[in-house]
Amino acid sequence: MIIIMEPKATDIQIKKVMDFLSANGFETRFNRGEVYAVIDAIGDKTTVTPNRISAFDGVREVKIIREPFRLASRDRKPDDTVIEFSNGVKIGGGNKPVVMAGPCSVEDNYDGLLSVAVAAKECGCEFLRGGAFKPRTSPYDFQGYGEKALKSLRKAADETGLLTVSEIMDASDIDMMCDYVDVLQIGARNVQNFKLLHAVGKCNKPVILKRGLASTIREFLLAAEHILYNGNSKVILCERGIRSFDSAFTRNVMDIASIPVIKKYSHLPIILDPSHGTGERYLIEPMAKAGLVVGADGVMIEVHHDPENALSDGKQSLPIPMFKDVMKRVNRLSGRLHYERNCLSANVD
Ligand code: PEP
Ligand code: MN
Repeated sequence: MIIIMEPKATDIQIKKVMDFLSANGFETRFNRGEVYAVIDAIGDKTTVTPNRISAFDGVREVKIIREPFRLASRDRKPDDTVIEFSNGVKIGGGNKPVVMAGPCSVEDNYDGLLSVAVAAKECGCEFLRGGAFKPRTSPYDFQGYGEKALKSLRKAADETGLLTVSEIMDASDIDMMCDYVDVLQIGARNVQNFKLLHAVGKCNKPVILKRGLASTIREFLLAAEHILYNGNSKVILCERGIRSFDSAFTRNVMDIASIPVIKKYSHLPIILDPSHGTGERYLIEPMAKAGLVVGADGVMIEVHHDPENALSDGKQSLPIPMFKDVMKRVNRLSGRLHYERNCLSANVD
């Protein structure tokens, strides 16, 4: 890290910082410019974090060179992480992007859920998604049917040959949920629920970690780091839109650029969720396509058998006929991109 001292920093203040760094095993180099004194420090930042150094009097700014998300960082692991499921489905590493489709909440209508699962399978999707524990802004909104919903999700997925994804809100549900789901989802609101991140880090299930409503990319990757640090390397990131000043036409701002940015700095797979990212049915197809073009490893789409009567997120859910139509074009694009990236690459140079 580089420590820039205040122009008026005293020799004693500078010495105190340098001594502290040396005592903690850092190699330091000191440079005095016309205005600023700068300390270049190389060492282990696990105990001496930039925050600790900025607490010293006379320190103006601490700049980090290496990103603080070590395990999630591509510098440390240049090859893409690929997450493989027992049925051979793979996420990441240039494999064909996966599609996760299903209702926002699993409702008390098994036939409705099954009709979505059948459509998803027909369209080549790999995962059936559906919420059993819903993180709702209002306590008066539908909160999810819990384990009963997970049972239906598993049943519909098994009948159609799909894998399952569902959101976990409480660490005490991990063992129960692992009986029903192939992927645990941590929602945007829990991206910095560190106890939950640690708990899923200690289990062996793949985890989808959604970007928080106001997470910076660095904070997002540091949240993933908590899971990796606790031992679970199967983390799938999900860009699901962020809050901004303009909520006039969309629910969130779909940060498409975060996908190639994250690919540059991290080896973890990243998918996108245009349903929550925009909140608008008509934007799902263009945003899904945009995400695939910039390298997303998959797409998550909310689909409902009767959106007008959905218990949550009906406005952004695709009705089954529209979903099938959208998927035709999404699959075509996805297939073309996959061919260009994997089969034509040998001829391009
Ligand atoms: C969801 O996937 O149903 C959900 C609640 O998503 P998010 O956490 O992105 O809001
Ligand atoms: Mn939803």
